[in-house]
Amino acid sequence: MPDGPPPIYPLSLRMQDRRAVVVGGGAVAVRRVAGLMAAGADVLVVAPELSASLEDQASRGFIQARRRGYLPTDLDGAWLVLACTDQPDVNAAVAADAERQRIWCVRADDAVASAAWVPAVGRTAAVTVAVNADRDPRRAAVLRDRCVAAVEATASRPDSRGGGQGVVSIIGGGPGDPGLITVAGLQRVRSADVVVTDRLAPQEVLADLPPHVRVIDAAKVPAGPAMRQDQINQILIDHARAGRAVARLKGGDPFVFGRGREEVEACLAAGVPVEVVPGVTSAVAVPASAGIPVTHRGLSQGFTVVSGHVSPTDPGSAVNWEALARSGTTLVLLMAVEHLAAISEALHAAGLAADTPAACVADGWTRRQRVVTAPLRELAAAAHGAGIASPAVIIIGEVAQFAAGSTGTAAIPQPATPGQASTP
Ligand code: SAH
Repeated sequence: MPDGPPPIYPLSLRMQDRRAVVVGGGAVAVRRVAGLMAAGADVLVVAPELSASLEDQASRGFIQARRRGYLPTDLDGAWLVLACTDQPDVNAAVAADAERQRIWCVRADDAVASAAWVPAVGRTAAVTVAVNADRDPRRAAVLRDRCVAAVEATASRPDSRGGGQGVVSIIGGGPGDPGLITVAGLQRVRSADVVVTDRLAPQEVLADLPPHVRVIDAAKVPAGPAMRQDQINQILIDHARAGRAVARLKGGDPFVFGRGREEVEACLAAGVPVEVVPGVTSAVAVPASAGIPVTHRGLSQGFTVVSGHVSPTDPGSAVNWEALARSGTTLVLLMAVEHLAAISEALHAAGLAADTPAACVADGWTRRQRVVTAPLRELAAAAHGAGIASPAVIIIGEVAQFAAGSTGTAAIPQPATPGQASTP
């Protein structure tokens, strides 16, 4: 017989609508409450003082709170109790009361004395991974991450769907940096059988895909007898009908000048299940990469995102440039490099001051990123003089004064890293 206690008995609890009592209101409680809420538990927190986020959840009615010290009656009706105070004697008292009433108790301060342990948990679309590593939480977290990665890698084997129904996920890939796709978006791409990608989608995300995943570059789909968009729609539908998980990966957000809704409708019309995973739009993220906030207290109470692909002088233009000139909001122009001179002229003619700060950020969130700043009247000349080409985002308004890079010059800021503006 081996020495020591017998092994633990792992179990997964369905906590929906079942009472879980958390004693303590600090950092540990915050984490435990988050997990319990995700599981739909009926959460009661007992603590003389709650951290701000727990206070907020209590005020919105997501959890119940008793703002005082622990009393044994707090355990009434509980299925599970988590003793998370920083006072070992309180945790011990909670554990002893729970033991008497046969309620499972997790003690945050003393794993050995604890009746139950919370494992390190990871989730993929269909699999929950829970790891206990002999009371070593750090090791458990590392192993959990490896398990999740392994699950995601095997989830996408071509035979995994067994001829079942396919699905199309229309995914916003963010502005270009592979770190700026959402967790949900990356999950869909990693578990896809087919990825249909675009010019502005984050290309590095494709680099790590297992070899069996088919990658189709939509930018290279020939126009042929049908429109290119019709051909792309057909590709999505055909692969989904063959039972495959199709990830349609786009730049930015699929519903911001991304033709996302057209693809949704094509799938719906074909009876193919379709979902949309939003993304970080370049309209907000590309200015941010140059240190420009689209709103700023005291400077800008809003922003307007407009496509500049049709010149204001074109009879087909449907944008009211006069109204935009008077909007008082930051103007963010996409697809506007070609018509920048005509657009600046139209805005100025409608009353927007010629010295309004403006900036142009090209190839945002890539190593090639360039920033040009100039007053409105000089922006087009400065951008064209610096050889700026699409893709670029134009920002017009007081917030443009925050741009990294000096007036009228093309500046190459630090390589873009998520979470860090390239302001010097
Ligand atoms: N759906 C995308 C926009 C597609 S329209 C989104 O939400 O971001 C394409 C335009 O987006 C480009 O002409 C350019 O104006 C802008 N754009 C997209 N990615 C960009 C990037 N990395 N740097 C600069 N501009 C970008």
